[in-house]
Amino acid sequence: MSPQIRFPQTKRERTTTAQLIALNERLEVIERRHCMLQNTVEALGREAGVSVGSPCSHCDQSHMLIKDGHMYCPHCGHRRTI
Ligand SMILES: [Zn+2]
Repeated sequence: MSPQIRFPQTKRERTTTAQLIALNERLEVIERRHCMLQNTVEALGREAGVSVGSPCSHCDQSHMLIKDGHMYCPHCGHRRTI
């Protein structure tokens, strides 16, 4: 195994590396929050008798909700039959 050669980083490279590390940390926080919210929405849906469907193909701003055989988007009101 050959030794790894490290070249000194320029100030710009150090800045870029620090930005990547900060972005990765933010992404991990956002992913955890997203997972928590997804679990909460699904639990709320179960309690309310509503299922969460696919993303709305009309506005792409919300998932479709499914209740009593009907599918609708709570954001734009788009409706589809199942
Ligand atoms: Zn929609």
